Amino acid sequence: MGDAPPPTAARRTEALFPSTIRGLTAYAHQRGAINMGQGSPDFPPPPEVVEAARQALADGVHQYVPTWGLPALRQALSEKAQRFQGLAYDPETETTVTCGVTEAVISALLAVVDAGDEVVILEPAHENYHAGVVFAGATPIFVPIRPPTHRVDPDELAAAMARPGVRAVIFNSPHNPSGRVFDEDELATLARLCTQHDVVAISDEIYEHMTYDGHAHVAIATHPGMKERTITISGLSKTYAATGWRVGWAYAPAALTDAIRKVHDFTTICAPSPLQQAAVTAARLPDAYYEELRAFYRARRDRTVGMLREAGFEATPPEGAYYLMAGMERLAERLGRDADDQAFAHYLIDEVGVGTVPGSSFYRSDPGLGRGLLRFAFPKSDATLDELERRLAVLR
Ligand code: PLP
Repeated sequence: MGDAPPPTAARRTEALFPSTIRGLTAYAHQRGAINMGQGSPDFPPPPEVVEAARQALADGVHQYVPTWGLPALRQALSEKAQRFQGLAYDPETETTVTCGVTEAVISALLAVVDAGDEVVILEPAHENYHAGVVFAGATPIFVPIRPPTHRVDPDELAAAMARPGVRAVIFNSPHNPSGRVFDEDELATLARLCTQHDVVAISDEIYEHMTYDGHAHVAIATHPGMKERTITISGLSKTYAATGWRVGWAYAPAALTDAIRKVHDFTTICAPSPLQQAAVTAARLPDAYYEELRAFYRARRDRTVGMLREAGFEATPPEGAYYLMAGMERLAERLGRDADDQAFAHYLIDEVGVGTVPGSSFYRSDPGLGRGLLRFAFPKSDATLDELERRLAVLR
């Protein structure tokens, strides 16, 4: 007693990197910078959805609901998939409610990937894809979507997908952080390679309702042969500005759903019951809500792009989602600053009062690909954007 060495952490945790976004967000907050880095809205969910949550608490919805989701929510989600993508998912056997997309992704990976398998990750990628692959004891095979076009390279993807160990591919469109919306060619390439190599597609469609300028989100599960091999994931966080509610969902064929539900049951039992009840109202909002959502974000996108360009960044309007990757090398040069994205992100926090995310943090295969870029998120109120404009003025 007393002399024993302190316990050590499991080796798998050594492969996990602390989230750059959360780290820099905390630093930006501490320095009083405005948070343009994290993709978290600074305004509330739609009032009718908040009211539904309040009502659920008043109605006594406090206890566990069936582990794979409140029946009324699964029904509403099944109808939503039919309404927007023409996809029929059985609420009883093919729809699972999870604690956010984050848990859906982890549950999906643990449900379909064994230790020793390989998983293709299209990157830039949300940080938890890599974590999920590590939890599953599998190996990530990164395929970069390269700036400036951020298009999927069919040859690079084909080479990765042909590896015999690949069991799943995970990707996200509309895409965080590039703002790309995968087009029919890219989806067709992914679909062809999945069917050819018997690979499961894990499709994170959390920004499904945010597309601009005629770009449209198409679920890969609508491609021939794909519904039977796709886990389609989305959630409340972005579409309804409710990142803290932790409600997401996964649609998948019954056999995969069965496996997802097992993992989900033994990790979280169920997503928060009153918020699942409120999510029924969210999922049933009329089409006008989604049209207004697109107009709301398009206006914010255009204003943010304009401000950044005026300040000297290079910014192209994104096709979807609510981020943009802005080039800062020319600006850094003009200001006589280090053009390294990490250094420039710190400079912006410390001296301009604006928090962003360095582009290199999105590329594990080759951080250099994001080196001259910073991610700005624009789910922000007018007051925040006014403040951003004031602060960026010092760069002109
Ligand atoms: N997937 C992507 C692509 C995201 O950008 C985010 C949040 O930024 C998430 C998942 C996390 O989703 P949730 O809040 O539902 O866990």
